[in-house]
Amino acid sequence: MNAGPDILIIGAGFAGATCARELADAGYRVLVIDLRPHIAGNAYDEYDACGVLVHRYGPHLFHTNAKRVFSWLSRFTEWRSYEHRVLAEVDGQLLPIPINRTTLNRLYGLDLDEAGIAEYLERVREPRNPIRTSEDVVLNSVGHDLCDKFFRGYTRKQWGLDLSELSAGVAARIPTRINDDDRYFTDAYQAMPKDGYTKLFERMLDHPNINLRLNTDYVQIRAHINPRHTVYTGPIDAYFDYCFGHLPYRSLRFENEHISNSEWFQPVGTVNYPNEHAYTRITEFKRATGQIHSGTSIVREYPQAEGDPFYPIPQPENEVRYQQYKALAESEPDVSFVGRLAQYRYYNMDQVVAAALRTAGKLINILPREGI
Ligand code: FAD
Ligand code: UDP
Repeated sequence: MNAGPDILIIGAGFAGATCARELADAGYRVLVIDLRPHIAGNAYDEYDACGVLVHRYGPHLFHTNAKRVFSWLSRFTEWRSYEHRVLAEVDGQLLPIPINRTTLNRLYGLDLDEAGIAEYLERVREPRNPIRTSEDVVLNSVGHDLCDKFFRGYTRKQWGLDLSELSAGVAARIPTRINDDDRYFTDAYQAMPKDGYTKLFERMLDHPNINLRLNTDYVQIRAHINPRHTVYTGPIDAYFDYCFGHLPYRSLRFENEHISNSEWFQPVGTVNYPNEHAYTRITEFKRATGQIHSGTSIVREYPQAEGDPFYPIPQPENEVRYQQYKALAESEPDVSFVGRLAQYRYYNMDQVVAAALRTAGKLINILPREGI
């Protein structure tokens, strides 16, 4: 018998693959499609022509405080502990970002202890109340000089917008520290999948109840397939034929380079360029993956308006439009919308997995199980 799937899942990224595995484990027959020729969505990694494992859609560092998410993913991978560190090139120096005690002492030629740094920041910060925009966030914590040196130029490049045009949540991703902690993240779990993300996804999707079809666009098959439920993880505006207009997404162009016979390119995983160059940052993959190789591979990220939808753009007017789509989505009980594009949220990987686990849990509770 060649019955159709119980559940059709559009997208083989973290949202789709997590739902697929949970539902397959619960006994549903799942078909996963993706328009790309590979699994893993934007977390896809592969070996480049020189044999270095690279992330094709920009650097992906896994970090989470959610024990449940970490444990769940640990079913499909071992981990390599890795704490990401980032330096920003400012005034000719490479300085820690998030801004910390070292950053301030080196930038301004000071020798302050933690209490001194706290006093310094208290003096230069420009209190804002309420805090609505990303500019409010940054000025409120570090004042205009540090804002201009570390945030305004980077943000202009990354988003094509001024800090004042972006919701507070964007800059709020980056804390300010008075101590010497130079880790980019402080989450309880910080690690890279030992064999890479694609391998992790291969194991997630390796289940007798899961069928996978790559190079398949939902638009082309939606009229020919009749699942009991659909999980959609693509852009929500596309699903509804842009009936309320396009939701803007920011895209990137990646420029990859391999440097042979040089073990390292830069001192840390990522160097940010807030004020120089057209690219925002350079990431050196081996720092994160721990791969041993005589050469090294890097990627430069050039933000752009056109191209694959990578970042929802957190602005109040976009949220209003998203809420219109969300209301429409809620009137479709046979379709679940989950993930960074379908929920139009600036989600990290762990947040997507958490959202997908919630969605799958709900479906397992409500979808009739007769005949399974
Ligand atoms: P996606 O990975 O985008 O998957 C959606 C899939 O749906 C895609 O494969 C797409 O091809 C498919 N699709 C869309 N429309 C259709 C259609 N019509 N038919 C068929 N298939 C379709 N997160 C972190 O936690 N740490 C990081 O360091 C980090 N770095 C990042 C760096 C960059 C440059 C970017 C862009 C993101 C980064 N993220 C990071 C975020 C992370 O990529 C996302 O949270 C996560 O991958 C989102 O998973 P998803 O399944 O929601 O979406
Ligand atoms: N940001 C900045 N300068 C930096 C790092 C970050 O201005 O050196 C701002 C910028 O607006 C960026 C946001 O903080 O888009 C979030 O940074 P994050 O590194 O989390 O971005 P992502 O890795 O998601 O691209």
